[in-house]
Amino acid sequence: MKINLISDTTTHPTPGMLDAMMNARVGDDVFKEDETINLLEAKVADLFGMEAALFFPSGTMANQTAIKVHTQPGDQLICDKYAHVYNYEGGGVSFNGGVSCKLVDGDRGMMTAEQVAASINPPDFYHSPLSSLVCIENTTNKGGGACWDFSEIEKIRKVCDDNKLGYHLDGARLWNALVAKNESPRQYGEIFDSISVCFSKGLGCPVGSVLVGSKDFMDKALRIRKILGGGMRQAGYLAAAAVYALDNNISRLAEDHRKAKEIGKLLETLPYIKSVEPIETNIIIFNLEDGIEEGEFLNTLKENDIHIIGMGQGKLRIVTHLDYTDAMHKRLLEILQGLAIKKV
Ligand SMILES: *Cc1c(COP(=O)(O)O)cnc(C)c1O
Repeated sequence: MKINLISDTTTHPTPGMLDAMMNARVGDDVFKEDETINLLEAKVADLFGMEAALFFPSGTMANQTAIKVHTQPGDQLICDKYAHVYNYEGGGVSFNGGVSCKLVDGDRGMMTAEQVAASINPPDFYHSPLSSLVCIENTTNKGGGACWDFSEIEKIRKVCDDNKLGYHLDGARLWNALVAKNESPRQYGEIFDSISVCFSKGLGCPVGSVLVGSKDFMDKALRIRKILGGGMRQAGYLAAAAVYALDNNISRLAEDHRKAKEIGKLLETLPYIKSVEPIETNIIIFNLEDGIEEGEFLNTLKENDIHIIGMGQGKLRIVTHLDYTDAMHKRLLEILQGLAIKKV
């Protein structure tokens, strides 16, 4: 039994999802004539209580488009040092937008309103890049699936208003935060200028992200998406999976969170584990004891057909997801418990 826990992106569409995809009514979305894309966009806009939404092939393209709409070349955006837009989008912030990042030294990928305020360059000091956008991430990826305290998100909104900054949420795993904290999409729609959400992470779709915001924002985003090559034709086959996921796969994320916490609890008791970071959703980040070689540990797991990834600096990551079954969970816990890992 292969147990793949490298990411929640490794899922395969279930028969129900495939069925929805096969039966999708489609058209040419570049002409806005794909019924299923239009349905998905309307559904997501309504869910967040925002005016408009736009389907994208990836979360990266959705974020990059949002950043491009919010900024001008030479501007600076403010984000945590762990931010996906800074670390894992290939430098697209500078490539696509001509924008630099002011990195904030936050906690598990989350910064405070005070830190954001302190990172803004004075707008009349023309020697510095113009601060024009704040990007936050919920849940945080590199921060181990941590969820924001909503009141801090609100405080940052105030800082953005006071300083005329755009406010973008990279919500690739926002669904996980909503379930873990019992929050609603509307709460987020009221605060942010733009939000990106992924369907290919915990929700089990093969492809797809959506950007939500105002009508005016999305008119501009449509042009940028075209420029980036993201205008797709009969993409309703993909959107059908996302519609299905919205209806079927959100509340079950609690199960991924439960399993992640159970894994973390076991890891804490094992002699070869030094520490486990707090687990709030479906991501487990942990460190091996000193003297235990990471590559060797990963190989030992691989021999048992268990696949996880190293994040560098001695950190390892496990991500639970839709395809991680109860049987796999039982087996994983047994194997971890029984591993005889020796220090070198
Ligand atoms: C996965 C992810 C994205 C987008 O990823 P794609 O692979 O391009 O869909 C953006 N932000 C965060 C925090 C992510 O985890």
